[in-house]
Amino acid sequence: MKHGTFAKRLPATSAAVRVTRGSSSRSRRRLPDMSFQVVTPYSLDEALGALASGEKLVPLAGATDLMVYMEAGTLAPCRFLNLQELDELKPTLSVNGSLTLGAMTTYRDVRVSPIREQFPMLAWAAREVGALAIQSRGTWAGNVANASPAADGVPALMAYDAEIDLWSKKERRRVPLAKFYRGYKEMDRRPDELIAALHLPLPQPGWVDYYRKVGTRRFQAISKTLLAGRILLDADRAVRDIRMVFASIAPYTLRAVQTEAIVRGRELTPEVIEEAAQAIQDEIHPIDDIRSTETYRRRVTSNLVRDFLSL
Ligand SMILES: Cc1cc2nc3c(=O)[nH]c(=O)nc-3n(C[C@H](O)[C@H](O)[C@H](O)COP(=O)(O)OP(=O)(O)OC[C@H]3O[C@@H](n4cnc5c(N)ncnc54)[C@H](O)[C@@H]3O)c2cc1C
Repeated sequence: MKHGTFAKRLPATSAAVRVTRGSSSRSRRRLPDMSFQVVTPYSLDEALGALASGEKLVPLAGATDLMVYMEAGTLAPCRFLNLQELDELKPTLSVNGSLTLGAMTTYRDVRVSPIREQFPMLAWAAREVGALAIQSRGTWAGNVANASPAADGVPALMAYDAEIDLWSKKERRRVPLAKFYRGYKEMDRRPDELIAALHLPLPQPGWVDYYRKVGTRRFQAISKTLLAGRILLDADRAVRDIRMVFASIAPYTLRAVQTEAIVRGRELTPEVIEEAAQAIQDEIHPIDDIRSTETYRRRVTSNLVRDFLSL
């Protein structure tokens, strides 16, 4: 196991320093030095052993979220557990009855892989995440573990019924992504567990995918609302099965099971579509924040439902 330290000059939090940060000269800012340490294990056993020791370690994958928190001063000095040297978590996209994404699989890995033919929504979601640098560095597992309600990758994974492999020293378990989140940034992962992989069942023929993110700009914006949908229709346009997953309208990525139940088994008439567009209002809990308002999010989320079901 390799240990390293690097110093990060974090924005100050004390009132005295906040005053000096208003100064026009950046060099005159008085910012405290705070050290972060990096532990680099070279085997999964070593990594899980370190997590089991009880010491607080923060898993570090692509660091595209963690570095933002460091820069913003919202991450207290800590020890990172660097996952980049672990063969067992290496980027993989293997199809063997289901699609397996190794924990270090990035958005770019998906965008350039032939699996985008079978899982088009993964490629669409990957394209929405930041720009190329972030897509080359950020991982799907990091998007899941970061648990942002505005995550772009998680809704696509959830709409494909993804399951998560959670490994610790004492057990290996698999949980459905749709049951992983419990509240804002609360999830079914213990501190001694790593996300080792994500598994997606292979889609049966006939499913139609839909992914639409609504943000301030077409690209490089955080969503105000987002719908990742999949639908399987019978020949008479009755809904045989459906998934509707939303971002930015609840404390966590939300699969709208009640609205799905309203349309399942029914023909997609204008009346049924309108019923679903109204029903989604009872399932979402949008808020006013710097990116949007509750009113806007409610109205546009219903519009997304109409758009999706009018295919
Ligand atoms: C400029 C910029 C633009 C961005 N744009 C978008 C965007 O448009 N859409 C979007 O959804 N996101 C966006 N992001 C956020 C970010 O890129 C994604 O959330 C990314 O998927 C995080 O993956 P990572 O590997 O970098 O995670 P990290 O930053 O390394 O980790 C994130 C969190 O996950 C935990 N973690 C990581 N891997 C594991 C694991 N295997 N097991 C357990 N815990 C783990 C870490 O401890 C940490 O809490 C953006 C970020 C930046 C900096």
